[in-house]
Amino acid sequence: MPLRTCISCRDKQEQIYLMRLQCKDKQLVKFNGIGRSFYICKSCLEDKKKLERALFRQCKNKAQYWEQLKEILANGR
Ligand SMILES: [Zn+2]
Repeated sequence: MPLRTCISCRDKQEQIYLMRLQCKDKQLVKFNGIGRSFYICKSCLEDKKKLERALFRQCKNKAQYWEQLKEILANGR
């Protein structure tokens, strides 16, 4: 099983335990199979402050990524 690194804690885990996302037009979305993506582990989904910083870095932008992430988790969008 290939290991992937969480963008927030840098922990390496098997891909199935991580959430795969991407920034599309500075919006946080589920990875759609095209372009650059990144991974977030389950425990980091609870750590708002740390995760927001990691998302700002990934998206090279500051937006309401925590809220967008919660929406993705709620809707499976
Ligand atoms: Zn993590």
